[in-house]
Amino acid sequence: MSTIAENIAKVRERIREAAQASQRDFASVGLLAVSKTKPAAAIREAHAAGLRDFGENYLQEALNKQAELADLDLIWHFIGPIQSNKTKAIAEHFAWVHSVDRLKIAERLAAQRPAHLPALNICLQVNVSGEASKSGCSPEQLPALAQAVTQLPHLRLRGLMTIPEPTEDAAQQHAALARLRQLRDALDLQLDTLSMGMSQDLEAAIDEGATWVRIGTALFGARDYGQP
Ligand SMILES: *Cc1c(COP(=O)(O)O)cnc(C)c1O
Repeated sequence: MSTIAENIAKVRERIREAAQASQRDFASVGLLAVSKTKPAAAIREAHAAGLRDFGENYLQEALNKQAELADLDLIWHFIGPIQSNKTKAIAEHFAWVHSVDRLKIAERLAAQRPAHLPALNICLQVNVSGEASKSGCSPEQLPALAQAVTQLPHLRLRGLMTIPEPTEDAAQQHAALARLRQLRDALDLQLDTLSMGMSQDLEAAIDEGATWVRIGTALFGARDYGQP
């Protein structure tokens, strides 16, 4: 077994145990492999081991890998910060966008999503930890943003995404992740998706209702930002 295949088996086991501990169905937790900074060959290996969904943060890097891997049946998720001048390519080349945090970006994605493709799946990114530096709308901005996005064509609002402040304290992890679930439920829009949980906090995230866990390091090893 290759290292990536071994890592996938270990992460699946963590997901299985966490789902069982929270009395949730294993199949209700999607594994989104975060492949930023990793070569196309690593994605090919993960695909061979059974993964289909891959998350990328940097547009040009993602487009290069998509071209290299066009022979595979992959589902691409954009999970990084979005600048206005990138929305057209994102609308054309991804199935999901997890990081929409303002209406202007949603409007551009709606206008630029090609009509022959299925609706673009959207998660609204919410800043639940209140750090000034992080992207994401505030909990106060969320209801109006969500309402507006449900009105846009060619988009399907699926749920919420968050990147909480990193902490190893389990109680703090749970508090931030529970907040996202409560915000989702309070919208009362029947949203089926909570994109939360990374390598360090996937157990807490599954306990709080995550339907996508976004896992990079635990699958592909540490990232080297010097050599993307
Ligand atoms: C990099 C990244 C991840 C993966 O984080 P790991 O700690 O490596 O599992 C998840 N979500 C987002 C938005 C990321 O940018």
